[in-house]
Amino acid sequence: MEGYSKMVQSVRAVFRSGRTKEVEWRRNQLLAMLKMLDENRDRFSDALKADLNKSKMEGLLFEVDYSRNDLINCLNNLDEWTKPEKVKKGLVNLMDKVYIRREPFGVALIMGAWNYPIQLTLCPMIGAIASGNCVVLKPSEIAAQTAVLLEEIVPKYLDNEAIKVVNGAIPETTALLKERWDYIFYTGNSMVGKIVMRAAAEHLTPVTLELGGKSPVFIDDGVDLGVVANRLMWGKCTNAGQTCIAPDYIMCTKKTQDELVEKIKKTLGDFYPDGPAKSPDYCRLVSDRHYQRVKKNLEGGGTVALGGDSNDAERFIAPTVLVDVKFSDPVMQDEIFGPVLPIVPVQNEDEAIEHINDGTNPLALYIFSNNTATRNKIIEQTSTGGVCVNDVFMHGSLPSLPFGGVGSSGMGAYHGKFSFDTFSHKRSCMERELKMESVNNLRYPPFTEKKQQRIGWISKKKLNSTGGIRPLLPYFVFGTVVAILIKLYMKYYM
Ligand code: NAD
Repeated sequence: MEGYSKMVQSVRAVFRSGRTKEVEWRRNQLLAMLKMLDENRDRFSDALKADLNKSKMEGLLFEVDYSRNDLINCLNNLDEWTKPEKVKKGLVNLMDKVYIRREPFGVALIMGAWNYPIQLTLCPMIGAIASGNCVVLKPSEIAAQTAVLLEEIVPKYLDNEAIKVVNGAIPETTALLKERWDYIFYTGNSMVGKIVMRAAAEHLTPVTLELGGKSPVFIDDGVDLGVVANRLMWGKCTNAGQTCIAPDYIMCTKKTQDELVEKIKKTLGDFYPDGPAKSPDYCRLVSDRHYQRVKKNLEGGGTVALGGDSNDAERFIAPTVLVDVKFSDPVMQDEIFGPVLPIVPVQNEDEAIEHINDGTNPLALYIFSNNTATRNKIIEQTSTGGVCVNDVFMHGSLPSLPFGGVGSSGMGAYHGKFSFDTFSHKRSCMERELKMESVNNLRYPPFTEKKQQRIGWISKKKLNSTGGIRPLLPYFVFGTVVAILIKLYMKYYM
């Protein structure tokens, strides 16, 4: 198949023209994206319905309005974020201009996944554009209707010389990955994550990898299981469990397990009064391959306590709870990414911590507990991309928290200002004057004992043993007075 070299060359030429670095260009593109979201709400909803049977409310909440809010937050802060950042100076640099410039990398490749095909493409793109990059967007071919819609409307609203959408499957993605990119932002499974990172290594291209994994839930004894069941099943049933931070499995005592099943039964009755199969609010599995993969989990260990039914023609799998599951059972080996919820009975939080640390780093960790000591112990003794206590998903909704994995669940993070920072090179800048050579002479040869002592006095850091800045205060006051005097001298006599 034909490669993408010409396209990448043309986009890089736009970047080199400097147009995308202008803050006005960035603002105009973001405003155009806002218009695109507002004028196509129904078309987005229809595409999500066709791809995943996503209800209108779920599509708006998790995709269109989610992206819209991220976009508005970005527009509201763009001036602030794009300003050079002043940094602390030492005595040696009191007369210098020292700052960090956040600069675009160049041409960014953004590869989205199918489960939230709007949010996972547009939110990274907001960060990339805000920081002045050109973008080539590769939506997932598996959410086919949404991919076609993005390919049609993005060029209508945005600068189509600087921002391109490429649709296609593995051959197209493989060809794209052969090109030299200045940044690659990938969302999807870890197997492809390794392919992406290998391709990036070829050109030493920096990457963000937003991957997945089995996100555990620990439920302490003594919590209000009615509330827990509502919050938990909201997270597990959203998008029929096809969410990277969906609660994957539960660890709790046997006693809590048995009570929880009753509460989940009530919750599911409240969520879907006529059953999930008839509910307009319950999604379907995205493809036959994913349907067959998730269906195998219905017999992946333990006993089916709730749900268990499926419909091949519709790719429907009911919310299903498996009880008395063992860590060694097949359902506990890989990320489920579907509406099957195994419960593994454990003795206490220590056993849960040990199991979490035996595996790879999860993307999210959920703890339901009224006990602060238990919560702190689990948080302190584990490492996960994010953690949310007494709820699910909500930590991913706050733009002031970074969203990303650690270890096998990914590298890098985004959302809010973190998206802007992800797509920005932090360039360290120091501007000096060709003056004060008598002080600078100290660092030039020939080296003498006297020079060494003076340099040491000016530049040596002191360990702040008593805390605070107090011990350095005399130096700071002295330095400031000297700097002011020199400035005044230069102003009036030079
Ligand atoms: P997917 O199949 O849509 O793949 C993602 C991208 O990789 C697509 O653009 C696709 O074209 C490309 N791709 C697929 N196979 C390829 C290959 N062999 N070579 C090159 N490119 C290829 O999505 P998926 O991987 O099924 O997504 C589900 C996974 O993603 C889950 O593990 C989930 O946890 C994770 N995920 C993570 C996040 C996050 O934010 N961390 C969000 C959503 C999904």
